[in-house]
Amino acid sequence: MSDSIRKIIHIDMDAFYASIEQRDRPELRGKPVIVGGDPNRRGVVATCSYEARRFGIHSAMPSRTAFKRCPHAIFVPPRFEVYRAVSTQIMQIFHDYTELVEPLSLDEAFLDVTHNKFDIPSATHVAREIKQRIYERTQLTASAGVSYNKFIAKLASDYKKPDGLTVITPQQASRFLESLPIQKFFGVGRVTASRFQEHGIHTGADLKSLSEERLRELFQERGSMFYRYVRGEDERSVEPIRVRKSVGKETTLAEDLALSEHEEVIRILTDLAEKVERRLVELDLQARTVVLKLRWSDFQLMTRRATLPQAFQAKEVMLHHIQDLLDQVGPQGHVRLLGVTVSQLEKRGTPAHHAPTLWDLA
Ligand SMILES: [Mg+2]
Repeated sequence: MSDSIRKIIHIDMDAFYASIEQRDRPELRGKPVIVGGDPNRRGVVATCSYEARRFGIHSAMPSRTAFKRCPHAIFVPPRFEVYRAVSTQIMQIFHDYTELVEPLSLDEAFLDVTHNKFDIPSATHVAREIKQRIYERTQLTASAGVSYNKFIAKLASDYKKPDGLTVITPQQASRFLESLPIQKFFGVGRVTASRFQEHGIHTGADLKSLSEERLRELFQERGSMFYRYVRGEDERSVEPIRVRKSVGKETTLAEDLALSEHEEVIRILTDLAEKVERRLVELDLQARTVVLKLRWSDFQLMTRRATLPQAFQAKEVMLHHIQDLLDQVGPQGHVRLLGVTVSQLEKRGTPAHHAPTLWDLA
């Protein structure tokens, strides 16, 4: 890669929580291990080992379903303190090479190594060294993607797992992107993917055949983003850790939903609150404000918030207030998106006015 081109690495630990459990408990090695909720209660899979993935088990699947697919799987409750400690170790390794580290979660980060502290000219060399040092320090494997922007580096790290190292040069990018299934593109969720498929767009090559104008007709501003991504253009810089202000989850519905369908609305919001709670637990944060987000069928956005005297982490607390907020909104109208966000974050057990700077690990 020439000097004017950026060198971006995306590193992603392999089956992070499950690999840590297998490392610390040798009797779990080579077995289908599921880290997450109890299958007898309403839990979900946080991460599972590669042995469990062979049974079609994946993250966010209800534990009950996972149990049906693999009754001899071993369910292990998560130990977030241990995962956070390992996360600190790997982030330290990243910072040995560059200060331009952008963590996406406990086990995943972007690094800009264009100018790294050891003046190593080859980003591939840096990635190989980092993988090696992570293994020596933690006995865990990571997969790395190396490229000239964030979007392609992330796709590259996902290309070969576990213990992979994939390099995509500017020369290789267009072939790689053309062969990519549409749902792999950044910003394409379930709903957008089916929208593309309705129009006969299944791969990057199909996407590339559309004009920017046509894409904007279909997806407004996001259309231009897809137009650029499929051409390998992504100028977003690697943003070093920033203060995290909120944690939120939202879902675009396959079809507009009437707010009068109270049970269904609550079912979706419960699911979202559960995900928000899980994220807070991972980050060891609690919140004081809960926000209900609705996008009406005419695309108008509405938010309603409640701030509580006590900081909370539990989904039950969120849901209690979301119910109130929903009652204030009333049963009229149809929505196309529902979201739950919490803000005014603080470290657990630390009073707000003494809260240390909250570094983003999400
Ligand atoms: Mg991972």
